[in-house]
Amino acid sequence: MNTHPREIIGREGASGYLSIDLQALRRNYLLLAERTAPVPVAAVVKANAYGLDAARVAPVLHEAGCRDFFVAHIGEALQLEPLLPADVRIFVLNGLQPGAEDVCAAKGIIPVLNCLEQVENWARTARDRRSRRPALLQIDSGMSRLGLPPEEVTAVAADPALLENIELLYLMSHLASGDETESPQNTDQLAVLRQVSALFPDLPLCFANSGGIFLGPEFHGALARPGIALYGGVPTDAPDNPMRPVVRLDVRVVQTRTVPAGTRVGYGGAHITTAETRLATIAAGYADGLPRSLSHRGAAYYAGTRLPIVGRVSMDSITIDVTALPPGTLKLGSLVELIGPHQPLEAIAADAGTISYEILTGLGNRYHREYR
Ligand SMILES: *Cc1c(COP(=O)(O)O)cnc(C)c1O
Repeated sequence: MNTHPREIIGREGASGYLSIDLQALRRNYLLLAERTAPVPVAAVVKANAYGLDAARVAPVLHEAGCRDFFVAHIGEALQLEPLLPADVRIFVLNGLQPGAEDVCAAKGIIPVLNCLEQVENWARTARDRRSRRPALLQIDSGMSRLGLPPEEVTAVAADPALLENIELLYLMSHLASGDETESPQNTDQLAVLRQVSALFPDLPLCFANSGGIFLGPEFHGALARPGIALYGGVPTDAPDNPMRPVVRLDVRVVQTRTVPAGTRVGYGGAHITTAETRLATIAAGYADGLPRSLSHRGAAYYAGTRLPIVGRVSMDSITIDVTALPPGTLKLGSLVELIGPHQPLEAIAADAGTISYEILTGLGNRYHREYR
């Protein structure tokens, strides 16, 4: 199957519309760059730009001035590389997978080195090619996920021969609680990073994710690397989300009905109406990235009216209670809002018991996608 059904059916027949506002994306990039200036801002475009399509997103960010792009996997870097002009740097967060050294070197992809073994492997690759190779060195400042623990960094710093063929560009670390402005973990991690950084006196820092940008200039280092804020997610628990929404999701009504009190709705008959109820079934479900945890909890909106999800979320459909709307308002083919001005990304994520990141990266590929 080369052609996706959504392309055969075209706009009119689509069951849902995922609209991605590239202008808002651009504004978000510029807003973050303004916050960190003169420190430049990279873009994290891992997981296909948080599900929004790196091939569409990355060129827009490049045009807005972004020259540094972070992905998670080397495969993502290889996909991204031909889509961007040669003046960019592409960094791989998950590090240098054994066996991927040569392709990384050949394509000029820059690994984040997360352990001693990766440092050694990259050094060997560079030596074999008789050239110095760029890299970032990540230290674990308190998240225990990726990066060299402080003792290992000390060993690396004490062995100048090891780094002879590696051109370190940044000392990097990642915040575990960057979105929580009051968390003491932020300043603890900053202190660890600063301490380790004394071992590499001239090496600039790369620290702030989206949340980190809002913690203040001491977190900005020499290169910020936001992801979620670019895509309109709320980056901080400080009041007032300054980011513009990027994503809007509207889904078609495929059936409406009125049922009496005592009627079971959906799988397992898990919802039973307590009064006469007008229902609408909409054409998206958990296979489209609307988690099953929205069962009985979430809602759709129509012109600002909340329409609660009743019963369980199915694979391809969800039933909503539309009694709050005047009879006949919703018909076959009407659109209801799942993500938009009345239900921001964070609201649907909270109802699903998750975070905006998971909703974004899970948005399915059966929607008609519109890039504005
Ligand atoms: C995903 C990721 C980011 C981006 O984080 P946001 O919270 O989306 O801004 C930055 N750095 C690392 C190491 C990451 O894994």
